Amino acid sequence: MGFLSTLTGSFSTPADDNPTVAMMEAAYAAAGLDARYVNVDVSSADLSDAILGAKAMGWVGFNCSMPHKVAVIDHLDGLGESAELIGAVNCVVARDGDLIGENTDGRGFVEALRELRHPAGTHIVVLGAGGAGRAIAVESALAGAARITVVNRNTARGESLAALVSERTGADADFVPWTSTYAVPDSADVVVNATSVGLGDGDAQVDVDLETLRPELLVADVIPNPPRTAYLRAAAQREAQTLDGLGMLVAQGAVAIELWHGVSPDREVMRARLSEVLGLDSAI
Ligand code: NDP
Repeated sequence: MGFLSTLTGSFSTPADDNPTVAMMEAAYAAAGLDARYVNVDVSSADLSDAILGAKAMGWVGFNCSMPHKVAVIDHLDGLGESAELIGAVNCVVARDGDLIGENTDGRGFVEALRELRHPAGTHIVVLGAGGAGRAIAVESALAGAARITVVNRNTARGESLAALVSERTGADADFVPWTSTYAVPDSADVVVNATSVGLGDGDAQVDVDLETLRPELLVADVIPNPPRTAYLRAAAQREAQTLDGLGMLVAQGAVAIELWHGVSPDREVMRARLSEVLGLDSAI
């Protein structure tokens, strides 16, 4: 009769106030889940060994951040539909001995968006064509958006995202080179800042003609900290509905917990804990 030997590890983890760790562990506690969310630094050279180790230790899955979001794909057994289209994985799920790559960033955005406005049939303008922009454009198109406009400084990145959306999803897509202040067209229903402008800088303003932020628009931002960006404040002043980056951050984590544990966590608990660790008023 065999018995299970244990490896009891000791390693440095980020402080208890790491925002994502705190948010995920609050979700586990509230759901009564017997699970831990542990953050470990892994170098690119050690990625393969780390993934084998996670599998050997029976992890139900893991998140990965840049620069591993693309490199991890070579080590997986399969990809979910949107991860395959986006070409990046931020969430790996162990299923029946296989490791499957998913992308919960775009799903998180769409889940947060749906609370305010259903994407079906809408025209969504995505400012930025990096990892967040790709995830948002693809997932919004898969959720039924009729048209995606990609606005980006780098032409190759913007064009390739617009081509991907129009060739691989049911949505129409166009690309606008971001060479001067961008005027949001009257046809747009949603305009989302998916650039890094505003991260850690509440005064940084995306180069958008603020006069074109109409009250009928839903204006969204991916920036989680500070969540009340200059761009969202300008939109609110013009009476547009706003969606901040905390909603997306909470929702992508919640979707990951659903994939790993089959349990739907309490988003309010997660947002409250995240706000607490970030030193924010949870009502904002
Ligand atoms: P990338 O580096 O992949 O892409 C950055 C994007 O920002 C590019 O499109 C880049 O344009 C654009 N950009 C940067 N500076 C400017 C500028 N001054 N003016 C116009 N465009 C600019 O980053 P990610 O896409 O991975 O992340 C973007 C942001 O999204 C980050 O701040 C990140 O924190 C946030 N994020 C939030 C999440 C959430 O859950 N709330 C989840 C994931 C990301 P170009 O291609 O022309 O260089």
